[in-house]
Order: sequence, then structure tokens, then C-alpha cells
Amino acid sequence: MSSTPSASNALVNATHDPGLKSWVESANDPATDFPIQNLALCAFHAEHNGHAHDHLGVVIGDQVLDLGTLVGAGVFADDEALAYLMHLPRWNMLASAPKYWPVVRSRIQSLLNAESHAGQQLRRVRAKALRPLSQTPLVMPMHIGDYTDFYASIHHATNVGAMFRPDNPLLPNYRHVPIGYHGRASSITTAGGGAGDTTSVRRPKGQTKADDAAAPTFGPCKMLDYEMELGAYIGAGNAMGDAIPFDQAAQHLFGVCLVNDWSARDVQKWEYQPLGPFLAKNFATTLSPMIVTMEALAPFRVPGPERGEGDPQPLEYLRGGENWGLDIKVEVWLRSEQMRERGMSPVMLSRGNFRHMYWTVAQMVVHHASNGCNMVPGDLIASGTISGPDKASRGCLLELTWDGNGPDGKPKPRVPVHLPTGETRTFLADGDEVIMKGYAEREGYRRIGLGECRGRIEPAA
Ligand code: MN
Repeated sequence: MSSTPSASNALVNATHDPGLKSWVESANDPATDFPIQNLALCAFHAEHNGHAHDHLGVVIGDQVLDLGTLVGAGVFADDEALAYLMHLPRWNMLASAPKYWPVVRSRIQSLLNAESHAGQQLRRVRAKALRPLSQTPLVMPMHIGDYTDFYASIHHATNVGAMFRPDNPLLPNYRHVPIGYHGRASSITTAGGGAGDTTSVRRPKGQTKADDAAAPTFGPCKMLDYEMELGAYIGAGNAMGDAIPFDQAAQHLFGVCLVNDWSARDVQKWEYQPLGPFLAKNFATTLSPMIVTMEALAPFRVPGPERGEGDPQPLEYLRGGENWGLDIKVEVWLRSEQMRERGMSPVMLSRGNFRHMYWTVAQMVVHHASNGCNMVPGDLIASGTISGPDKASRGCLLELTWDGNGPDGKPKPRVPVHLPTGETRTFLADGDEVIMKGYAEREGYRRIGLGECRGRIEPAA
């Protein structure tokens, strides 16, 4: 029945066996994002016995396994620490304790395994702890104290640089330093759990100035955009003053999610120099609600990106032996208000792959702590827009509707995206819903997915 994965990947173990099946039938559907090899973590709002609080859960097929309920029923009574970790409202405590990561993964997998030997009572308890994902109100799985956004795609950096600074697109530090800025955690929300679950994002207002205008004005953003990014949750923290050595990066990276870093491009263009993004970015950031652990991603680890000829090698502190590239495909879909009213399905705008990023998540976390900055369990580091070498893989409208620069060195008129209703988009319109998806697949392994990240634009106040 079970087959041994063929790749020589030391991080792969028995929990990734593609032959494993769950007694939750929907988890065995080849198309699901959440087979028993994934075990994505979530948190949800639970109401019972007249009171409400948040429970932790694991997504399995189209169901959520309610861990809080299992703790209450004594399922983890043999392991006090495990029972404690499983009945908290968020995953930060587990993130802080890497030695429990494999314990939780194997314990939950055996609870869900079709071939586990469960007595009648345990079968009854675990079946009772299942609830349909589509009817489960997911909440943020982690308390995010701090949020940092990187700029790790050299293709994105070069395209955007060419628009904003035609004579100087890629700044000289790019190939040496993982560039980032400190974002804002208070405006991070999550949606994309159940059917139709979506975040409302109000169109921001801001200060903008057209190139030919004499003075700036204040009003609703006219160039509202999404950015398709991957987020990584920090695992163990480091003490303030201590760096994270590259060979210890693994214990500081807990898992990943999809990130939509909503961006007001007209605001950004006017405000970003000299200190970088501010109000163009901090009005909203939307995450997919599940955490796919680094353990679940083990089969999809690949070598970091090849550096181009003449590119400098990263400095010593940013180098290490493990395969830190992640072979994760990401897609952006759009559905306008009109498409929704006419019952039309979303259309795909782009598809990229995280493996093309110039900097890996390990390099991001190691660089972040290299000056002694303390990372805290549950902090979020986002990758920056995931854009690849070809046009179809550009992860934001700013790049997707850019047609290159003309002979005068300035960007040519934008080429809008066409929707099946006949509508066109250069940037987002009110009522537009942006849906991001991510998944990993590889010969010899079970496909796993990151779920969805959904958000819809509401008119400005
Ligand atoms: Mn960004």
C-alpha cells in the first residue's frame, strides 16, 4: 500500500507518504488542497453551551477537525503539554516550540489516518469533532505582533523600477541585500475559509500628485492594486541582540500562507521617496486563513534560485546548504461585480511560482535578525510580489498592464486586462473580488494546497 518517496530529501518522512489515506473521505479526493499529508492549521470562532471563544483546528478535506473539542474529550490526556498547546486560541505557542512540531503533526495524522486502530469511543469522539469547512467561521490563526514585507522577486523589482525610475530600474544594493520594509500588523485580516468567505477592503483615500499637476490633491485612490505574495510565520524567536545563524533558520520558520498586500499605486508613487512604502500599503493586508507548515512543504523544497552570470554570491551570513527554494504555484483570479451578478466564475489573471524568487524565506529571516532585531513567534514576513520571468506570471496589475517603456524612456499607455463581460481593468474597480490560490505538486508526492485568500473592494468612504 505505502510507497517510499523517491527523492533524496532528508526532510521527507513517513508523514509525507503519498499512500496515506484518511477516514475523512473528502481528504482522499485528488483535487483537495487538504489531504492527510497537508494538515493545515487554522483557528475558528466556536459557539457552544451559550458562550463563544476561539478553537484551534486542522483542515482535512472539506472538514475542520476541532482540536479544542478533542482536548475537552480527553484525547490528548496522555500528554499534558500537547493538550495545553491544542486548547489555546492561536498557534503562537506551538510556533515557539519547534520540538513539538513533529509531535503535533504525527499525532494529528494518526487521528485522521484511515488505518489507525481507534476504539469505538475514540471513533465517536473524533467524528463528533468534525465540522464542515464551509460553515466554520475561520479567524486569524496567529496573533501577529509584527509584520515585515520584503521585495524578493528580482523580476518584480526590475519591472517596477523601470516604471518609477526608467533610467535606474534595479538599484545597486538589490543583489546583495534582501530589501524590505516594516508593515503594519493592525490592518491584517483573513478570509478565504468557507464558501464565499471574503474580506471587504474599503478603497483608501490618499494624497496623490499627477506628473503634470502643480500641486497634490487628497481623495479616493485611483490606482488600487493587489500584490500576490507568500507569507511566512516566524517559529521560535531570537533574543534581542542575537542574530539567527543560517544553519538554524529552520526552527525560526513555522509555516506559510497566501498574502494579498493591497497597494494604492498613485499614493505610493508620490510618497515612497525617500523612506519607502507607508499609507499606500498599510490600509489593508489580507491573508489566507490556513497555515501550511514547513514540515508539510518538505517534499516541495528545491534549490534556491540560480544567480545570473556576473551576479554576486550572497555574503557569508546569507548562505547555507539546505534547499530553501519552495516549489509553490500561485494564481490570481478576479471576479467583478457584474460577473458576480451574472453568475460567472472568476477568471485567472496570472500564474507564477515562488521558486523563482531571488531571496529565499531563510535568507529573509536570517537577514532580518542579522543586526540583533528580535523576531517573535507568530510574526509575519511576506515575500513581496511573486513575479516570474514571463508576462503571464506577473503578480500585480501594476506589472500586468504595463507595456514597457517607450522611446522617450517613459512607460507606454497601459494595456488593460479584458474580462468576459467586456469590461476592462487597468487597476481594481469597486466591487472587484481578488482570489489568490497556491498549491504544490510534484511527481511521487501528494499535491497539497494553501487554500484561498479572498478580498473585495468596497467604495471609498
Ligand atoms: Mn508588497
